[in-house]
Amino acid sequence: MNIIIFGPPGAGKGTQAKYLVNKLQNFQVSTGDMLRDEIEKHSEIGKKIIKNMNDGKFVDDTIVNKLLEKIIFDPNKSSKLIFDGYPRTINQAKNLNYLLKKSNQKIDYIFFLNVKKDSIIKRIEKRKILEKRSDDDADTILKRFDTYMKITKPVLDFYSKNENFHEIDGSLKIDEISQKIEEILKV
Ligand code: AMP
Repeated sequence: MNIIIFGPPGAGKGTQAKYLVNKLQNFQVSTGDMLRDEIEKHSEIGKKIIKNMNDGKFVDDTIVNKLLEKIIFDPNKSSKLIFDGYPRTINQAKNLNYLLKKSNQKIDYIFFLNVKKDSIIKRIEKRKILEKRSDDDADTILKRFDTYMKITKPVLDFYSKNENFHEIDGSLKIDEISQKIEEILKV
């Protein structure tokens, strides 16, 4: 089963993705984690993306799409993917459709965790303290939210027409959200 978890920054995508990874024995595909890894490794990609990441801007589609390709074509992970933070642009959504088709896979479920701007700011502030994430200062949070609204909202409109699209109130407690997802997945 391939699942996309979708929503603005701080909506709890990562938390739910990790939960599903455990529950379904699937694999988390977090482009945010993959990009942070590149920065930590001081790789060529890392050097290219550090500024955009710190400014709360999106990383170039070509870089993100390339990182994703390897995972999609990994036979051990086929149809066991939980996408967290990808796709974020129409270009990425189309690329995902293309790669999945090419590897005989599909998207089984799309979950949209919907949260208002105010609660997201509070949540990200908390995560900043717990996880010491450098890109998460208040200013960046707002920029990330605005980038999301501008660029990712069309992706939401693109997916919301699908019958496997489900919107969930992301301001609920973590386990309430997990429960709602489980009810839909019937697991
Ligand atoms: P995240 O951990 O998913 O909140 O991502 C943190 C940051 O990584 C974002 O603010 C972007 O700068 C970058 N990023 C993560 N995923 C993507 C993506 N799919 N496309 C472009 N940039 C991304």
